[in-house]
Amino acid sequence: MTKRCCPLCNTCNSIPIEQIHMSVPADYHLPSSYCIVSCENCGFVYADTAAAMDDYDYYYTHCNFYGDDSKDDNNYRYDSVAGFLEKYVSRDANLLECGAGNGRFIRALKQHGYTHLSAADPSEESISRMQEAGVQAYISNVYSEVLPDEYEKYDAVFLFEVAEHLLFPRKGIANLQAMLKPNGLFFISVPDYSQIGEDPSPIPNHFNLEHINYFSEKSLDYLMVQHGMERVDQKHEGMTLIQIYQKTGLKPLQIKDNSTAYAIQKYLKRQNCQREELNKVIEALRDKKCELAVWGTGSYVMSLFATTDLQQCNIKCFIDNNKIKQGRKMYNYPIYSPAFLKDTPYTILICTMLYQEPIQTQIQEMGIKNTIILL
Ligand SMILES: [Zn+2]
Repeated sequence: MTKRCCPLCNTCNSIPIEQIHMSVPADYHLPSSYCIVSCENCGFVYADTAAAMDDYDYYYTHCNFYGDDSKDDNNYRYDSVAGFLEKYVSRDANLLECGAGNGRFIRALKQHGYTHLSAADPSEESISRMQEAGVQAYISNVYSEVLPDEYEKYDAVFLFEVAEHLLFPRKGIANLQAMLKPNGLFFISVPDYSQIGEDPSPIPNHFNLEHINYFSEKSLDYLMVQHGMERVDQKHEGMTLIQIYQKTGLKPLQIKDNSTAYAIQKYLKRQNCQREELNKVIEALRDKKCELAVWGTGSYVMSLFATTDLQQCNIKCFIDNNKIKQGRKMYNYPIYSPAFLKDTPYTILICTMLYQEPIQTQIQEMGIKNTIILL
């Protein structure tokens, strides 16, 4: 029996694919393992996690680190949908971004002449940053009750890289759909897990603390058609799938996802081989009692702590560019800013899911000559 029924069709019969282990700090309030399962009925692949809504609320309120914008490129997301915006959205349309994070997309919309902009995010810190930037922003999440004056208010809503995090995606999509005018457009992006088997440079840790829904084109369609949303356009940006739906009210029959479970099995097989290779590097560092500064404090580190000998190494500290994390602790080791490395002899172990090469460049540009190892 699954702990979590299928978030797309609510069936509770599933086929286990693989158990994922992480070493999750206690103050995150999230379980340290979950099973990846495939729904017997609709084929959707998801994390059968024991975590409840309250646990994720706590995590995203207290351990939310998206508010830091010290490294982000404001235009990246705008550029990826600019063609669609020109085609479908007028400059004076009423627009809402939900889960806006630091507001880089909504701010880019403003810069490009869009005038009626709203942003919602659960993080107080993110909201005050957006308000400082002159964006109408308010604290809310996709599960918040739709207020009477929000009903059918918007010409388009944007939900980028949120749906893969939602314990109850149908409830979230239903709320946003209610805020859309009839024939309004719903822009949504998710990682496409049906592609990860073939991804030439896969992210080392696609199955992490936060991603609990593993969408494909088909399963995203299935989620959206249940709310009368018909797909009108799509594109891929690497692993990211961007699909645009229109609120037409049509509700076709079930759409089954037949390909994602196999793609995920292929990815995990490759990941397990890579972990064995990584562990050889880590064992050598452990045996030499090499003094380490571990760069990165996210899910990838938690996964390496649980599945390799990293926690037996001579770790001196963690390093992170994210200012919100600096000054905190990770597994009782202090988290410092990169500047701390300047006066240390420590070997730098880069354990981030993304940006490994830019971080290496950053270290070199700071004039730090310490040995660097990419994990
Ligand atoms: Zn299902």
